[in-house]
Amino acid sequence: GYRSRAAYKLKQLDELENVIDRGDTVVDLGAAPGGWLQVAAERVGPDGTVIGVDLQRIDDLADHDNVETIRGDMTEERTRERVVDAADGTVDAVVSDMAPNMSGEYSLDQARSLHLARQAFETALELLDTGGDFVVKVFEGPDVDDFRADVEEEFQYVRATNPNASRDESSEVYFIGKGRLTAPVRPGD
Ligand code: SAM
Repeated sequence: GYRSRAAYKLKQLDELENVIDRGDTVVDLGAAPGGWLQVAAERVGPDGTVIGVDLQRIDDLADHDNVETIRGDMTEERTRERVVDAADGTVDAVVSDMAPNMSGEYSLDQARSLHLARQAFETALELLDTGGDFVVKVFEGPDVDDFRADVEEEFQYVRATNPNASRDESSEVYFIGKGRLTAPVRPGD
């Protein structure tokens, strides 16, 4: 079984826009407890690699030896550097299900969610190969249109979807950026 109900969301997103192929290298941000990691590991297969990052510890995925996990804060430069080192080259997909700890105050949670989404986008720009895909969760609210416009500049197209439309998490939206237009630019290059 899967570690989280979220696993089915990645399945739906991947079925909609085919972001993960066999043999791919995938980076999964906000990966704990590991449902997306399980789905990604199945889809990339034994010749692929999945790198998962979270603030929380992720229990080993005993069934998958193609998964590496990093415990760290994606808002910190040193964590992003560890992800770049682990990827050891360009990656085919960056997927982010990161969400803040809920304060209960929507405007605050929404602003934090957007900040995490922008961090995921920066990481994608450091890592994604030309043609690579990006999936990111963000809570609906102010400035999300600006964020979408920024993502649109870097990909062939962006699709917005909410796999949970009928559930309580209906305020979240996933942007899928398909086909990165340019190659990675690393700070300092
Ligand atoms: N996709 C996961 C799965 O299938 O099991 C569920 C992810 S859960 C909705 C969101 C995760 O984002 C939490 O585990 C949280 O710790 C992580 N997160 C939030 N802020 C983060 C940050 N700054 N850096 C890394 N992970 C973060």
